[in-house]
Formats: sequence, C-alpha cells, structure tokens
Amino acid sequence: GFRMGIVGLPNVGKSTLFNALTKTAAAQAANFPFCTIEPNVGDVAVPDPRLDQLAAIAGSKQTIPTRITFVDIAGLVRGASKGEGLGNQFLANIREVDAIAHVLRCFEDDDVTHVEGKIDPIADAETIETELMIADMESIERRLANIARKIKGGDKEAVAQEKLMKQALAALESGKPARNVEVAAEDEKAWRMLQLLTSKPVLFVCNVEESSAASGNSLSAKVAEMAARQGAASVVISAKIEEELAQMDAGDAEMFLEEMGLHEAGLDRLIRAGYDLLGLQTYFTVGPKEARAWTIEKGTLAPQAAGVIHGDFERGFIRAETIAFADYVAGNGEAGAREAGKFRVEGKTYEVKDGDVLHFLFNA
Ligand code: GDP
Repeated sequence: GFRMGIVGLPNVGKSTLFNALTKTAAAQAANFPFCTIEPNVGDVAVPDPRLDQLAAIAGSKQTIPTRITFVDIAGLVRGASKGEGLGNQFLANIREVDAIAHVLRCFEDDDVTHVEGKIDPIADAETIETELMIADMESIERRLANIARKIKGGDKEAVAQEKLMKQALAALESGKPARNVEVAAEDEKAWRMLQLLTSKPVLFVCNVEESSAASGNSLSAKVAEMAARQGAASVVISAKIEEELAQMDAGDAEMFLEEMGLHEAGLDRLIRAGYDLLGLQTYFTVGPKEARAWTIEKGTLAPQAAGVIHGDFERGFIRAETIAFADYVAGNGEAGAREAGKFRVEGKTYEVKDGDVLHFLFNA
C-alpha cells in the first residue's frame, strides 16, 4: 500500500495527530478492525462520501473504504543528518515512505516548549529540510564514489544514474530540495530508485490553535505561501480538536464540528490531501454484498487496476464493464445507466478514471 510519513520537530503535535488519525471512527470503519502494525504505523480509511451513495443505490450490505498507511516518524532534530537524536534510523524510516506530511507548529502555548525557543514554522520547515538535504548530498556523494569505476568501464546504467545524481546534487548545493529537479519521463524510474529524501512530495500540515481551525492564522498563511512557491501542498488542522473528535461518536462529532465552524474533520482533509499528493485515485466495485473503494495511481490501465483486487484478475483480464460515478448516480444504478447508454465495455488499453464503477471479466 501507499505510505505517508509524518515528520516534524519535537513538540509540534505529531503524536497528537497520529493518535487521532488512528483512533478515529473512520480509521476503524467497516469490517477491517484498525490494525496497529507497529506502534507508530497505522492504516486509515480514506473518507469518500461517494462510497455511501453507491451503497445506498445498490442496497449493498456494507461499505469497505480504501486505506492508506501513516507512519509516525519521531526523532528528527537539528543535526539528525550528523546522527543527532535518532539520526540515521530516522532517515532510513523516511526513505521507506512515498510522501511526507511535515507538521509545523503554528500555535502559541507557553506551556508547550518549543525546541528552537520561538514559534516560527518557516524556520522550522527549513531546519528539517536542511537536515534532509544534507543527508541527500552525503548519500549522493557516497554513491557517486561507489559507481566511479563502473562509469569508467562504460556501464550505461551507471552513466545514466550519474547524470541524475549530478542534477540532484546541483539543486541541493544551490539550497533546493531534489523535488525541484525536472526529470524526463524516461528517467523517472531511475530517479525514484535514487530514493532521495527531498525528492518525495511534501504536504505541510499547519497545526493551529483551536480558534483558528476554520480560518487558519497568520503563521499558516505564511506556510501556504511557502508551499505554493515550492510546489508543495498545505493543510490547516488543529491537532487538539482532532484529538477530541477522535473520542466522540459520529453524532457528537458532527455537532462539535458545526460549533467550531468546520465542514468536516481536519483529518479527512489531511487524508485526502495526502491521497492527492501521492497521485492516487479511486475506483469502485458495487454489489449486493458490498460497495468497495480501491486505490490506484492516476494513469493506471484496466488490467493493472483489476490486479489490485487479485493477481488473477490482471493475468486473465478480458474486459471491464464500466460506468462513470456520475452516470451510475444519474441512472440510479446499473440498469438505469444501461438504459441511458452509459454502460461501456472497456479493454486492455482503457485508462481507469477516478470514480469509475467497474466490473471485471477474466479467465480463471
Ligand atoms: P510531537 O513531539 O510532535 O509528537 O508532539 P505531541 O503531539 O506530543 O505534542 C506536544 C505537546 O503539545 C503536547 O503536550 C500536546 O498536548 C501539545 N499540543 C499538540 N497540539 C497542540 C495544539 O494544537 N494546541 C496546543 N495548545 N497544544 C498542542
């Protein structure tokens, strides 16, 4: 599955958020009990109102949301790239995630110590990014030295890798994270294999005080500007509110949200922002037993989308009966969509669209 790492300086609210994420009713939804893989790893349901709509139309007995994994990566401090704090362990954990949720303290509270002595989310973001950039530079230099002999011997793969590493190094040396490097489509796989920490997409999570949860504050506005400049994303959240919400039942939570002037839980926005950041989308399977959401990367073709359900579906793929979500709703189900001419039979080269309701036919 897809993994999102939660990072940030100590005392910014990472654990509070992670605990809320994994305790919330949504995380425990459906017939998958919330599973703690490790104390700091949690699977959460991706909230999607379309799933309930489909289930209501089809009369499905249950809904099964799709999930992404969050990893609470504690221990990043100034000097981590030099082994301070949990140092290298921490960096290894980041290498294994697909994207980074970077929590920034945007709340004032004299009772909660700030490790740098003042509230400055932009400076905090730079502190962490600097550690990651140093770690990337060191790992590139090490690897360049390791492949020097292969390059002399004319090894094509090594030469291609060297080109990418030098591009990354140039960006890093000018103070820019590796995600700023423009990579040609044919190099993308090799680029990902470099596993650079600063090449991963970043979502800045502004942890604001409760009263600013709906509007954000001046600090979160600065972070949003920074994110836009860097091609990163940002969300505003109050970890305190989310902590309280996670302990309420659905009815109380809805009333509480309304009182706070919020349309939905911040965690829902966070999960969806992470999902978008990872370039993911959803398709559905709908039947009397269950309506279920499945995750694929944007651009996935029908056989590979089927493979998410089962390897046999991909290997034996014949065709995909397809109804767009809006057509399914407009037709009030499959029969109506068929009558309206919105039922399509798609083949191996069909690029699945977000919200497609699919039924796969395959050779067993
Ligand atoms: P971590 O070190 O980043 O995991 O931070 P924690 O989640 O452990 O939070 C550190 C302290 O800050 C705890 O005492 C939290 O209760 C407090 N805290 C977290 N979020 C907020 C917030 O939004 N507002 C306030 N006032 N305190 C918070």
